[in-house]
Amino acid sequence: MREREVEPTPVSGSVIPTFSYTPTGPRVVFGVGSAERELSSELDMLGMSRVLLLSTAREHHQHSEVIRGVGRRIVAHITDIRRHVPRAVAQAAIDIAREKQVDGLLSIGGGSTTGTAKAIALDTGLPILAVPTTYAGSEITPIYGLTDNGVKETGRSPRVLPRTVLYDPTLAMGLPRELTTTSAINALAHCVSGMFTAASQPVSDLFATTGIKALATGLYGTVADPDDLRARYQLSYGSYLAGTVLATAGSGLHHTICHILGGAYDLPHAQTHAALLPHVLRFLQPWNPIAAREIASALGRADGDAASAVQHLIHSIGAQVRLRDIGLPKTDIAKATDLLYARLGHHGKSVPSRPELLALVQAAYDPRMEKNV
Ligand code: NAD
Repeated sequence: MREREVEPTPVSGSVIPTFSYTPTGPRVVFGVGSAERELSSELDMLGMSRVLLLSTAREHHQHSEVIRGVGRRIVAHITDIRRHVPRAVAQAAIDIAREKQVDGLLSIGGGSTTGTAKAIALDTGLPILAVPTTYAGSEITPIYGLTDNGVKETGRSPRVLPRTVLYDPTLAMGLPRELTTTSAINALAHCVSGMFTAASQPVSDLFATTGIKALATGLYGTVADPDDLRARYQLSYGSYLAGTVLATAGSGLHHTICHILGGAYDLPHAQTHAALLPHVLRFLQPWNPIAAREIASALGRADGDAASAVQHLIHSIGAQVRLRDIGLPKTDIAKATDLLYARLGHHGKSVPSRPELLALVQAAYDPRMEKNV
């Protein structure tokens, strides 16, 4: 009898991959209305009865129904949430956690709120239950960031990885259109740039390409109708996959450029990603045409031009962002280029040369400048 024919698993290129992968991550719960329905039992599972809630006043008001259901467990509430988690703010939160003898942290909010909970967990070892309300993806990574006098220190620790994440697509319904799109493009950047890192491997690439498709579907859907729950689900699912890529494959050139410029000019996080992503990708794609082809294909483009595919997506949803609009002065283009050149180093083959960096910054500053390079 003839042996059953098996469709081979496609292997990109001619090299059979060698890789290791250790799955790590929180328990995740997805569902429309899951925050209100499941929060209490999920807190029980973690044995959290004296809870420190982290949420801004706005988030507290917006999600009051969710919070009311677990109100009797909340012994303290921190509303002082700041971008990039200043160390002094983190220390004040740690002091409250100790003073109130809490046994767990509940964060309801975006990446800044999750980041504040992580800072407390890093110091105290307290467990976190995270309920994200944006698409930043921080809730799924063991990465933390703290800022001291404008300098951001980032690190990794299993202590900061939340134990449980509740993804409820309804919670992001209040996000304004601009924040919805830039936050989802921030997630797209995790997927895309994670395919060009040294630590990328077939499993993270699988998460990345699935994430790219989910995010693109979700973006088109929510731009057409912000209340479309199926589209909101795709964005939540895509942001989970994207955060997993960031946690496993790490961040690459794109994130480094965003962090250097964001830190130096206090640029808003998600918008900076949106402004730079197509231009960094245009530089990166010749270094890994297989990754570029997979990204382009996930976005419905057959010619392998990932940068144009991402640019097209950003334009189609009306989310173009230029560095000139978010705080980079025109007179600082050369200075910003020098800063990048100095901080990135110029020894690696896949690190842009100074003229390439200048072209990249000019293009992200205003795409019309690209032609003049
Ligand atoms: P954010 O948390 O700063 O929130 C942006 C704004 O949106 C805030 O004003 C917030 O109040 C508001 N907001 C949040 N949810 C809302 C909702 N549902 N409706 C209306 N308004 C809402 O921004 P972000 O983009 O979520 O997070 C950015 C931060 O997260 C950065 O500091 C970044 O470095 C960090 N981050 C960390 C990781 C990691 O792995 N450690 C990953 C991604 C991002």
